[in-house]
This record gives sequence, structure tokens and C-alpha cells, in this order.
Amino acid sequence: MFNDYMVKLGSKRSAIRELHEFGNRRAKVSGQDGVFDFSIGNPSVPIPAAVKDALVKLTSQSDSVAVHSYTSSQGSEEAREAISRGISKRFGKYVPSDLIYMTCGASAALAISINALCEPDDEFILCAPYFPEYTVYIRTAGGKEATVPFLENFDIDLVALEAAITPRTKAVIVNSPNNPSGKIYSLDLLERLANILSRKSAEFGKPIFIIADEPYRELVYSDKEVPYVMNVYPHSLVCYSYSKALSLPGERIGYIAICPDAANARELYSAVLGAGRALGYVCAPSLFQKMLAMCESEKAPIESYRTNCQLLYDGLTRIGFECVPPEGAFYLFIKAPNGDSEDMSDRAKEFGLLIVPGDDFAAKGYCRVAYCVDKDVIIRSLPLFEKLKESYEK
Ligand code: PLP
Repeated sequence: MFNDYMVKLGSKRSAIRELHEFGNRRAKVSGQDGVFDFSIGNPSVPIPAAVKDALVKLTSQSDSVAVHSYTSSQGSEEAREAISRGISKRFGKYVPSDLIYMTCGASAALAISINALCEPDDEFILCAPYFPEYTVYIRTAGGKEATVPFLENFDIDLVALEAAITPRTKAVIVNSPNNPSGKIYSLDLLERLANILSRKSAEFGKPIFIIADEPYRELVYSDKEVPYVMNVYPHSLVCYSYSKALSLPGERIGYIAICPDAANARELYSAVLGAGRALGYVCAPSLFQKMLAMCESEKAPIESYRTNCQLLYDGLTRIGFECVPPEGAFYLFIKAPNGDSEDMSDRAKEFGLLIVPGDDFAAKGYCRVAYCVDKDVIIRSLPLFEKLKESYEK
């Protein structure tokens, strides 16, 4: 009677939401102190003062009708100009404002980009470990996903990636800093990926695109640079989000930037406009576009994430868990001692530790710990992680 795919999608909650809800229920029974919720990637640092001031100013002093009106569907000229200037200044790449499209966060940016690119049965390559929602956007658009495994250090397995390319491959989705591994892909890796895609694009006589999913670009804890994909490969789109960069994920603001060197960039922009329209987005939130026109270059403070990352990594490795040191985002990926991530998540629950099995991220055998929590939660959780480790030794 209804759309079967949508019923299934709506009936099955993500493992992350499921755990988070479990934590809320448990907190009601046994108190918040007994719950260590490492399940969800909700920022735990305040929005920058300048952003707060801009929002107060906009909502209290300005003409309220203008502040809350529809904007044009691609977004206001002021917001897109501010973003274009920011990209030029930071990455030395000129992306004209008429190749920038404002969205409700990276989720909408991804859904719109995939719908804009996808012809029936097109394939999108996903580099494990990856954000599970990609598959939802691809299947909704009528495409198919092909998953490429990761190397031990969480780099993309480029040999497997090249083997996965077919004449139907439309794009590769790349997420760096990565959710869930915390990996930053190096310039060298992206250049090698670009070489493969250039070669394959020439062989098939059509461009294969890179979609760079960048909600964690500003969350970096090492000296490692996060390369800008447009400087490496022409047929590229950046899906950016301010959810984590400005610590306001509930406000839904981000953008798509299309590389001006991409094949048929103008037509692709029209397809983006069409996909946004078809998916019913109308326009991104007006208030937050206005805020961006005033403070696009602001960044949320990330010091506490850095401290948490170090504390957790040191604590878990001291206890004897195996994990790769995260370079960015706010996730740490631990190896399940017996290779079974579902079992590890279940065992952890017994101690009140909510960690997400890696299976939905196409990374069986790992669990994700989101460390965007109070430092105190990490300190108090470590003895419980120790008990979790001991549970494998009995
Ligand atoms: N991409 C990745 C890898 C994410 O982790 C998330 C959110 O956690 C998103 C996209 C969506 O972010 P947004 O809040 O901007 O929609």
C-alpha cells in the first residue's frame, strides 16, 4: 500500500539512534551517571561568540520579515559570495558564487549531489569505513553502491578501488577527516586516486566524479593538512557543513561547491538546482545564511576534542585495546578483541558504555567511540573500559 522501501527505511532505526535511545531510557532508571553515551556525533563545544552575537543581532534588530523570508533556491548571494571568498582565501581556488548551492547541512548536500549525478543504475563507490546514510541517498536516487575495503591504517585500498570501477561508475565518495576512523587522507593518496579516476574517465570517455563529504574539515588534531579536492582533481564537488565547524547541527546549514573545472559544471549546477527542487528543499534556512554572510570564517573551539582524543586514545591503548590514533573528526575506532563488533557493543552496554558496532560503516570487527562528550565522562569511563577488556580474558 505504501512505498515499501520507505516503510523499511522508517521502521529500522540506525544502530546509532538505537543506542542513544537506549542510553536515555537507562539514564531515567539508573541516573545519568551510570550512562556513558559515546554513540552520537553531537558537538559538545559552544558556538563561536561571534556567531551567537550575529544571531542575536539578526533576530533582535533587523526587519524580521526580511530575516525569515524565503531566499532564492540556490541561497542568498551574500552567503554564497562569503563562501566563495573563503574558499579562495583558504585553498587558492576560485569557485564562483554561481557554482555554490546552499543546503540544509551535508546530508542534504549529499542527497542533492547524488540525485543530480545519478542516472538509472549508476554506481557510486564508497570507501569503507563510511557514513551509512550514503547508501540511503544512493538507493533513493536509483543508483547502486560498490564498497571498497580499507587498509589496516584506514587508508583507501586503491587497488581494490580501481578494480571496482566499471563503465557505470558515476562517482567516488570520499570523507576526510573520516567518520568513523578519524583518518585524514593524505595529498599523496588523493593524487593517486585522482590519477586512477583520470585514467578511467579517459578509458570510458566520461568523467567519474569525486564527491568530497567534508563536515569534519575543521576538526583536525595533527599537523596534517586536509587537501582540497578541487586542487587535485577537476571533476569534483565539495559537500560542506557548518554542523560541526560552528557547532550547530540542529540548525541545518551547509553547501555544495562545484569545481569550475568539472566537465559540464554549469549543467551540473542546473542538475543540483533541479535535485534540490525535486527533493523539496526550497531553500536553506534564511537566518543561518545571513549569519554566514557575517561570519563564514568563524570556527568552533576544538581544544576539548583534542584533549578528549588524547585522553581516550592513551587510556584505551594502556588498557590493551587496539586503535589507530585519530587525526581528526571526533571518533575513535577500536578493534573488537574477538573480532565481533556487535558482541563488543553488547558487552559494553552491560557496563553502561554505549559504543557503536562498525558493521553499518562496512567495518565489521570495530566499534566507534564518539568522544564529543565532557572530559569527565571519559575519565570516569576508563575503569569501565578496563572491565570490558577483562571480560574477554575470563
Ligand atoms: N557526513 C558524515 C560523514 C557525517 O558524519 C555526517 C553527520 O554526522 C554528515 C555527513 C551529515 O552532517 P550534517 O549535520 O551536516 O547533515
